[in-house]
Amino acid sequence: MTDQPITDPFDGSVIDVVSYDTVEEVDRAVRRARTAFAEWSSQPPVARSDALMALADRVSSRASEYAMVESRQTGKTLRLASEFDVPGSIDNVNFFAGAARQLQGLASGEYDPDHTSVIRREAVGVVGSIAPWNYPLQMAMWKILPAIAAGNTIVLKPAEITPLTSLMLAEDAIAAGIPTGVINIVNGTGPTVGEALVGHGDVDMVSFTGSTPVGRRVMTLAAQRAARVHMELGGKAPFVVFDDADIDAAIQGAAAGALINTGQDCTAATRAYVQRSVFDRFLTGVSQVFAEIRMGDPRATDTDMGPLVSLTQRDRVAGFIDRAVASGARVTAGGQLPGGDLAAGAFYPATVVTSVAQDDEIVQDEIFGPVLVVLPFDTDDEGIRLANDTRFGLAASAWTNDVYRAMRAQREIKAGCVWINDHIPIVSEMPHGGMKGSGFGKDMSLYSMEEYTVIKHVSWDISARSHKPWHRIIFANRQQ
Ligand code: NAD
Repeated sequence: MTDQPITDPFDGSVIDVVSYDTVEEVDRAVRRARTAFAEWSSQPPVARSDALMALADRVSSRASEYAMVESRQTGKTLRLASEFDVPGSIDNVNFFAGAARQLQGLASGEYDPDHTSVIRREAVGVVGSIAPWNYPLQMAMWKILPAIAAGNTIVLKPAEITPLTSLMLAEDAIAAGIPTGVINIVNGTGPTVGEALVGHGDVDMVSFTGSTPVGRRVMTLAAQRAARVHMELGGKAPFVVFDDADIDAAIQGAAAGALINTGQDCTAATRAYVQRSVFDRFLTGVSQVFAEIRMGDPRATDTDMGPLVSLTQRDRVAGFIDRAVASGARVTAGGQLPGGDLAAGAFYPATVVTSVAQDDEIVQDEIFGPVLVVLPFDTDDEGIRLANDTRFGLAASAWTNDVYRAMRAQREIKAGCVWINDHIPIVSEMPHGGMKGSGFGKDMSLYSMEEYTVIKHVSWDISARSHKPWHRIIFANRQQ
């Protein structure tokens, strides 16, 4: 074990120190999960449901503490943590407490005259999960809840820079009566602890949320033993504004959709395509809203946007803008590192970029920062084509008051979620997950229970004959 400081990206202060686990400790965590699986998976659904309800109470009773720790380890505003991350997480626990009792399948019956078919939906086993740093508590919830609601046990590795609320959650799970070994947290970096987990021979399923390149590496490791994988990967969401849209609503929606969580959101609006006749108005309006965004102390009530999660991430974002500017891009808001009091923190301003080409890296690659690229289009065909011209397919939005345009956009845009006249809201009942390079499988909703269960067909002979009619196929023309 090595001790690692967890720092606040607002001012670099140390919030806590955690121990990174060794490969042997990962192995012990997997063994604990394996041992716990036998009993947890054989509990009746109502027992798992009751335990999850107790967990929801426990997290609710510490909601303000969770929000503060989440804000400090990520730099997100306390308002976002208190009004989105924590209540969303508690709602998720309550949802999966219900979902634990709602596994579904085909009706049992005689699909041929000699057999009764029964569908069983069983837990997969031990799940190894890897989570990112942008919404640490929500990501831990999205991984843990459907897995354990379905009867699996789990070993979760949070991102190495943001493990604190996952550790709090594991403590609260024990206090809520969820048996030891059902939820296990391991700490450490991806190449060491992450790979030891996803490559472990006794992990039945790997569930990963993170960037597409790391997801590909994780899939390769899981493929060595043909383990089931669930991949929630990167995004580069288009935001398509047609000329009949409510432009003020689109401007407001683009700012909120691009800047939530300082833009470190896999579904954030990143590429605004705006029909040419309303392009100038949109660009001027959105640039003005971005320029007025107040950065500062994430705990202050008059702060709109906190720092990025780390200085590394800030420098990564700045690199995208600097390279774009060097190639002729026009920055209409932000684009400069702040000085003064904010210089020590991981701050990058809300930034609008235009005059770039569709195949530039700033349009095609995930930046994961408070950056919106705005580009024009002429025909509806072109707007939809540009929206789909990406290797990602996680989320998108279309802005129009024309029902036929909206219907076309929701059908033709290739993304796991398409919003019409809004961008970002999510609910526990609806699935979250990508298409194309954004991965496969669903978090949240009853659809996520598909990921964490296996279907078994049990076929009962009801003919009670030793020489069954179908044996004729095997025994040629001998009398049966
Ligand atoms: P990342 O891919 O760098 O890291 C994600 C996790 O993988 C971390 O816990 C990291 O330690 C671990 N990891 C790194 N290398 C590994 C390896 N070789 N083996 C095993 N684990 C390894 O991503 P990040 O920077 O933490 O998070 C941002 C990314 O997450 C963005 O791409 C974002 O779009 C994505 N994301 C996707 C969703 C979604 O639902 N699709 C949700 C949130 C974030």
